[in-house]
This record gives sequence, structure tokens and C-alpha cells, in this order.
Amino acid sequence: MKIICIGRNYIAHAKELKNPVPEKPVFFMKPDTALLPKKNPFFYPDFTNDLHFEAELVLKICKNGRHIEEEFAHKYYDEIGIGIDFTARDLQAECKQKGLPWEIAKAFDQSAPVGSFLPKDDFKNLNNIQFSLLINNETRQEGNSKDMIFSFDQIIAYVSKFITLRIGDYIFTGTPKGVGPTKIDDHFEAFIEGKKLLAFNVK
Ligand code: MG
Repeated sequence: MKIICIGRNYIAHAKELKNPVPEKPVFFMKPDTALLPKKNPFFYPDFTNDLHFEAELVLKICKNGRHIEEEFAHKYYDEIGIGIDFTARDLQAECKQKGLPWEIAKAFDQSAPVGSFLPKDDFKNLNNIQFSLLINNETRQEGNSKDMIFSFDQIIAYVSKFITLRIGDYIFTGTPKGVGPTKIDDHFEAFIEGKKLLAFNVK
């Protein structure tokens, strides 16, 4: 499986990193080695001094497809979860400055912890899903899918023009504002509509 991540999908987050608001979805990928096995701690990598958390809603793909029309995109995912797009912000800044690809800053081992999923049919309105990240019991990020620049269906239509989606792939749909640095000993808990779906410690 592969993990596709959308960047800059919330205006307030694009602005906090001083990035322009995109006209088309921006995406990048993480390999399956970026997943964090359940119940494992996350080990702070030794190659960064500025590891940022980005809490994001995650779609689970349930049907193979390419060139998917936006109006049929909803048939291609059936579960929604929450994950952390860990980012080595110092390495990313270096890559951006030199115009280089971002993989070392984004795609490293365990850079994509993902929690349990909820059936899509449990949500009354996919354009109004509230989610949050607590670190050490303090709310650090709060988001709502209504603030996304590109909807789930628009993301699937766009990405599948370039890359075939397969059953079991994940799509990270972008982070709201409030990203920040991670520290050793932090305790992460992520929620959708008040349900805790992901928890781990940083070691
Ligand atoms: Mg992200």
C-alpha cells in the first residue's frame, strides 16, 4: 500500500507556513514503512531538531481506480480515520530552499502514525467532520473538514489522474493550523467527533 498526503489544504495552515494558497491540490507520498505499528511508541529521529506534528483526516481506499470522476469519487473510500503527518521542518526548509524533493523530511520510517478508522456511513455530513489533537492533555490542533480547500472527492479525482489508487491505500487530507514542535515524552491523542482513535508516546 501507499500513503498519499495532501499539502496546504487549509488556508489558515498555508498562511502560518507562509505558503501561497494552492490552485490545485499539492500532494506527496510516504511509503508503507512510514506507518507506526499499533501500541508502539514513536522514536524521535536523530536527524532532525525540529520535528513538527500535523494532525490530518485520513481516507482509506476501498476500490481500485484511476481517472476517477469527482461525482463517483465517494465510492472509492469507505472509512475515515486520523493520522499524524510528522515532518522534519528543518530538513524540509533546506529542501524547499534548494528546490529539492521533500522525502527526507516527510517519508521517513514511522512518520505516519494512523489510528483506528470509522465507517464513512457513520458521518451525517462529510463536509462537517470535527477533529482534534491533544498533546499531554492540551488541545494543540482543532480542525473541521468544512475548512478544506479541496474536498475528499476533489482530492481523489485529482490524485487518480496521475496515480492509480488501490484498495488499502491511505490519503492524508491536509492539516489545519496549529502545527508545532514535538518533544520526547509527549503523549499524543487524536480524536474525530470526540472519539479517541489514535494514541502513542514519543520516546
Ligand atoms: Mg501534512
